[in-house]
Amino acid sequence: MATLSKPSNSVEELTNSLTGELANFSGDKLVNFIDGREFAPLSGNYFPTEDPAIGKPYLQVPDSDEQDLNLAVQAARRAFPAWRNTPAEDRARLLDRIADLIEQHFEEFVRAECVDTGKPLWLCRTTDIPRTIANLRTFADGARTFSGEVFTKSATRGYTLRQPIGVVATISPWNLPLLLFTWKLAPALAAGNCVIAKPSEVTPLTATMFARVAAMAGVPPGVLNVLHGRGAKIGAAITRHPDIAAISFTGGTATGTEIYSTAARQLKKVSLELGGKNPTIIFDDADFDAAVDGAARAAFTNQGQICLCGSRILVHAPLYQKFREALIARTAEIQIGDPLDETTRYAATVSRPHMEKILSYIDLAQQEGGAVLIGGHRATLEGRCRNGYFIQPTLLEGLSANCRTNQEEIFGPVAALLPFATEAEALSIANSTTYGLSASVWTKDAARAERISAHLESGTVWINCWNVRDLDMPFGGMKKSGIGREGKRRAMEFFTEERSVIAPTSN
Ligand code: NAD
Repeated sequence: MATLSKPSNSVEELTNSLTGELANFSGDKLVNFIDGREFAPLSGNYFPTEDPAIGKPYLQVPDSDEQDLNLAVQAARRAFPAWRNTPAEDRARLLDRIADLIEQHFEEFVRAECVDTGKPLWLCRTTDIPRTIANLRTFADGARTFSGEVFTKSATRGYTLRQPIGVVATISPWNLPLLLFTWKLAPALAAGNCVIAKPSEVTPLTATMFARVAAMAGVPPGVLNVLHGRGAKIGAAITRHPDIAAISFTGGTATGTEIYSTAARQLKKVSLELGGKNPTIIFDDADFDAAVDGAARAAFTNQGQICLCGSRILVHAPLYQKFREALIARTAEIQIGDPLDETTRYAATVSRPHMEKILSYIDLAQQEGGAVLIGGHRATLEGRCRNGYFIQPTLLEGLSANCRTNQEEIFGPVAALLPFATEAEALSIANSTTYGLSASVWTKDAARAERISAHLESGTVWINCWNVRDLDMPFGGMKKSGIGREGKRRAMEFFTEERSVIAPTSN
């Protein structure tokens, strides 16, 4: 097999410094993974994906279609009876073995995720790849501990069986590619299903490496199948395939709505994790420095490309001016850098179309009467990243809570400041969007924190913190942010059918 570019310490040549066997693909062409083997798309068609830090194509992605899908579904159906009957402890051991292998190839995964997404190496090393490993270990534990319930009554004795569904699909986005890919397929496999997994076409590399690692770990042929391609083509084909019984989707609300309506016609089970327009709410009694730091992290981590990012910063009126100045100063400290530089904490957005979408929202904000407090433009770097898709972290103010900028998901490094006078007004602004994914509340008043948490229309509320995760806890969104919950037990429940078995007590 040809290899991608050799590792290099020269800053000019760092771009394609993917190393090791896992990321070697003949002619830079990625492969599908079907029935335990690597497959070129049957049509022979590919499309390019870009390295967003330099704005140049670097990998060829299989443009898979229904033919590839049919092969994968047949393989999954063949594999299902044996996988369903594999003891849960053995399935758990396999997930742990995959996690071990990713630990062994940690830097390879870190580097690949960094190049594919344009996010900083540091973030891949501290979040994306460690969380991927944690996902696998969490659901290995899920396989070991998940069980039905017992119901003992005077007249009946009953229990529930939790059994795998069959062939299921996972469809995941580009913002946390391997993290979200494994957050879905680990519980599906742990519960005994065979999986057709479709990663985002924008960031397909680490899913392909994952398939190689899964094969090395001994996942039986057909149990995990990875298909690449465009959402409108292979994603839609997966959604309507009659032999795929359930779909776990994370992505945009418009895509989720389409998947939901197609799946409804076949009464497929669907889990939807969708967009957000999350409030960060700062009260005047908050720990000031912690709140400024928290609001900045919530707005700009991963260049604002996390569904949980706080893009509306609601500030108690008595604190507004002081907070505004401090947040501008904090934002000014953010250095935009080459994602492959070890010191970089803020880097590129994921693609040219996405960068253009974000910039169009900054224009819209100004048309809607907003002022740019800091940022507002594409950033131009020197050297190898001079054509990359970088955007300055941007703060806006002077916008109404109901304007499009404050209602629609931008999914970039753009946040708007909004003053509020009372707790009731804060709640009303926070709940004014069609989304309901997450919120963070900053106050030292425990009673207020409890009160507001109970009334925020939000799947997760963080008190004096942001994006702190407990993988055992339910995770998901209200309103147009989704349907269903993920997390250790909830995801195992989603990927199983529940059967009640009852006998009279006299038996
Ligand atoms: P997207 O909806 O464009 O794509 C997500 C996935 O769906 C991709 O794999 C894509 O190929 C596939 N897809 C696209 N059209 C399809 C179709 N018609 N049928 C089937 N599959 C299709 O989303 P994106 O741009 O990749 O990701 C960004 C979005 O994801 C944001 O809205 C963000 O908020 C959301 N997100 C939500 C969560 C959450 O947990 N709630 C987490 C991360 C990202």
